[in-house]
Amino acid sequence: MTASTLLDQIYRNSDGVWTGVEPTDEWVREVRRLAKERNAVILAHNYELPAIQDIADYVGDSLALSRIAAETDADTIVFCGVHFMAETAKILSPDKTVLIPDAQAGCSLADSLSAEELAEWKAEHPDALVVSYINTTAAVKGLTDVCCTSSNAVDVVKSLPEEQEILFGPDQFLGAHVRRETGRDNIHVWAGECHVHAGISGASLQQQVEEHPEADLFIHPECGCANSAIYLAGEGTVPTDRVHMLSTGEMISEAAKTSQSTVLVATEVGMLHQLRKANPAVDFQAVNNRAACPYMKMITPAALLRCLAVGADEVTVEEHTAIAARQAVERMIAIGNSGSGE
Ligand code: SF4
Repeated sequence: MTASTLLDQIYRNSDGVWTGVEPTDEWVREVRRLAKERNAVILAHNYELPAIQDIADYVGDSLALSRIAAETDADTIVFCGVHFMAETAKILSPDKTVLIPDAQAGCSLADSLSAEELAEWKAEHPDALVVSYINTTAAVKGLTDVCCTSSNAVDVVKSLPEEQEILFGPDQFLGAHVRRETGRDNIHVWAGECHVHAGISGASLQQQVEEHPEADLFIHPECGCANSAIYLAGEGTVPTDRVHMLSTGEMISEAAKTSQSTVLVATEVGMLHQLRKANPAVDFQAVNNRAACPYMKMITPAALLRCLAVGADEVTVEEHTAIAARQAVERMIAIGNSGSGE
């Protein structure tokens, strides 16, 4: 089958997702051929479908992938993730062509704080500095003083003078984690959330802990269950040393090292693919099997093939926004331990 025959089969289904092509050997050959023709590097986020992770040149969290994008010799970056991640890659690599297989792959967390809302919030607190999680649009990053990831949010806030008022957004669970860890009460937290992570509740965690009493817990601090995990540890239901608050990048390193037979994982379910590859001897179980990000899953085999064949969808960021956003990201990197985000 030729690329054009495969392309003829692609259509947007009633859910608005590119479909019609399965990840067969022919698909693999065509994707690789087209990527070579374009001198493109394929980057895939840890939450992508297994077929997309397996064909990518690199798999990782959003910031690690953006760094790879900035360093690559490839002319084109194909970012298999959600839109704000591809924007971050473009901000850090303004001279490269950045493509996303489906520009409609958004993010409920990034959408929970718009640039207009942030501008109004800043106007209410003129002396405050803005610390934004990396899961934000380029326009929000452009109004941000310093970005942070889930690995370094606490360090970024600690690097600011103790008396400095801070606006922290958009994730309320990460904000609560930062407040708790720094003990500061001058942090205003935006009430945003990711609907996927918020769906991983304390009740699901409690149930899984009861079913797997010996298991370690890998918890992403954006999860609705993050507070429950700390509570369960506090009351002795789970020993503190078995609760690990980790970014997605840190989860992979911990997975490779763990000697536990079972690990409960509280984040998006796509993460399990890389964890199982990192340590096949361990039984990695999702705290909530239904925690799948519908936006990440819009990057289908059909969407990737179409992207490489027609050179769409291209991601652009206005220059003045990109300059301000880049400064916010670079200030974070200068603080050190930029680690990883989602
Ligand atoms: S899992 Fe949540 S935060 Fe991550 S991309 Fe999906 S909607 Fe956004």
